[in-house]
Amino acid sequence: MTSYAEFHRRSLEDRDAFWAEQAQLVDWKTQATQICDYSKPPFVNWFVGGSTNLCHNAVDRHLKDRADQAALIFVSTETHQERVYSFRELHAEVQRMAAVLIELGVKKSDRVLIYMPMIAEAAFAMLACARMGAIHSVVFGGFASGSLASRIEDASPKVIISADAGSRGGKVVAYKPLLDEAIRLSSHKPDSVLLVDRGLATMNWVAGRDKLWEPLRQKHLDTVVPCEWLDASHPSYTLYTSGTTGKPKGVQRDTGGYAVALAASMKHIYCGNAGETYFATSDIGWVVGHSYIIYGPLIAGMATIMYEGLPIRPNGGIWWSLVEKYKVTVMFSAPTAIRVLKKQDPVLLKKYDLSSLRALFLAGEPLDQPTAQWISEGLGRPIVDNYWQTETGWPILAISKGVDDAPTKFGSPGKAVYGYDVKLIDENTGAELKGANQKGVVAIEGPLPPGCLQTVWGDNDRFVSTYWNTIPGRMIYSTFDWGIRDEDGYYFILGRTDDVINVAGHRLGTREIEESIAGHPNVAEVAVVGVADQLKGQVAMAFAVVKDTRLLTDEAAKLKLEGEIMKRVDGDLGALARPARVRFVTVLPKTRSGKCLRRAIQAVCEGRDPGDLTTMEDPAALQQIKDLVAG
Ligand code: AMP
Repeated sequence: MTSYAEFHRRSLEDRDAFWAEQAQLVDWKTQATQICDYSKPPFVNWFVGGSTNLCHNAVDRHLKDRADQAALIFVSTETHQERVYSFRELHAEVQRMAAVLIELGVKKSDRVLIYMPMIAEAAFAMLACARMGAIHSVVFGGFASGSLASRIEDASPKVIISADAGSRGGKVVAYKPLLDEAIRLSSHKPDSVLLVDRGLATMNWVAGRDKLWEPLRQKHLDTVVPCEWLDASHPSYTLYTSGTTGKPKGVQRDTGGYAVALAASMKHIYCGNAGETYFATSDIGWVVGHSYIIYGPLIAGMATIMYEGLPIRPNGGIWWSLVEKYKVTVMFSAPTAIRVLKKQDPVLLKKYDLSSLRALFLAGEPLDQPTAQWISEGLGRPIVDNYWQTETGWPILAISKGVDDAPTKFGSPGKAVYGYDVKLIDENTGAELKGANQKGVVAIEGPLPPGCLQTVWGDNDRFVSTYWNTIPGRMIYSTFDWGIRDEDGYYFILGRTDDVINVAGHRLGTREIEESIAGHPNVAEVAVVGVADQLKGQVAMAFAVVKDTRLLTDEAAKLKLEGEIMKRVDGDLGALARPARVRFVTVLPKTRSGKCLRRAIQAVCEGRDPGDLTTMEDPAALQQIKDLVAG
């Protein structure tokens, strides 16, 4: 094994040769003539002149060696279904879905929005889009009409694929009414809505627009839809994520770079081999679902488990029973889920044969030491923290176990991953912090490696102005996370630099929640902050200035308004964005220039010193919040 330092150095200093080698992990119709075109920074084109297809790499190319091996393992503890699709069956289903999309008028480069629960048809839909070069945009099923509408508006899909309902903890969650409302709110209207009827909820039918999946599928049981060979830079999908300002950004990913990045990560980071089983417990609505439920494992020729249900139903052993049953070798989850399991009977961890499992990877939010220790002792397997973002699509920081035998360190997601030129930047001067143990903004010097976002969908200017800063002659991408690096090159992530909060591994913009709350007729102004929470990592806490101040002395009226506001957020954004509490004040703490002191509010809520408050206009405003929190 060459040393990891050398592997990493080569990925940057001998970049083209390094990535040309990694590119051999995927099939190409035509080989690239140029590995990396960075002539217009920060925009980068990987594998110029190459053409490939994600679905071919994930499905078709495995038919030769493993047609009858498991590819997609769908398990629902909500509807008590369990079905294993071999590569051959997956290939057939994906072609049926592609044929139906073609019948509905979808062509290469059209957008298809997927708003679905965790069912096999969602995977068929993503792969069918990839097969024909349509650009999918999966929207997490937990998002409500307002969030969905803004994504429909931005992605302007020709077709939306959805279902009658999802189910959570045994409770049916109807999707169709939320979707109908979102389409009503959006100025863009899809030509068709393709619906999977699971028999869970009745659907209001919009004649002409709504189409049922199963009868259309039956028409195309044997239709052959070949893979469309796509330029490496052809967009494969957009995935919306929150930032500080404005509407969510559509992170746009390419085809060739993404295929190579995922294939390489399966080899060097996750160490998953063809014929084995991968189990990522995320949802297809998030980036982990894209990269490590669908594309990554399948590209590697692994079976992938798609699980609909809670980690504790029917009991806290359900995931481990799946590890035993399907001989999972690589598992991927989030710290929040492990904290939920930690409350269950520890015997459940010992009840199953977990000998197949080589490692559990955790990402999405900081991994606290007690959680890491509990699960590592319980499983007796390495726990590998890894840090990345929707924008990058695969890890920035990790211990790349396939090429690095360095130990993990508690509290650190590891070292800079090959391909990433990670820097720490001084927030005030913009200069690089080269020494050990200095706190700065975690940044990546351009070009971003293959697989990362190409741009923000439809808005190149926003891509440049949001993420990129210049140090003379160089362009630096900001992750918007604080971090430090120790003497051994291990990074520690210290939280976001912007107004993004992380609730149970879900990334939310506090400004979006504020906008929703401010729409209530009795709210004059509102500040939402993220507050540390033992289980969820963070929760949203709202402080609203009411228009009718008589309410402040009426406890029943306050409770009623709090309930109304929570319902409003549920309806606009989804329950995952609902604040834990909404408290009412007469004024918000602000600087003399009118900037809301969100960080001071957050500090007070967490019982910390709010720091320098000399610029504060009215100290009584913060005192009101202190009193509320103390009371
Ligand atoms: P998302 O785009 O939803 O994947 O969220 C990305 C953000 O989650 C990052 O910018 C970090 O703030 C946080 N995050 C992801 N992984 C980790 C990790 N391993 N440790 C700490 N924070 C993380």
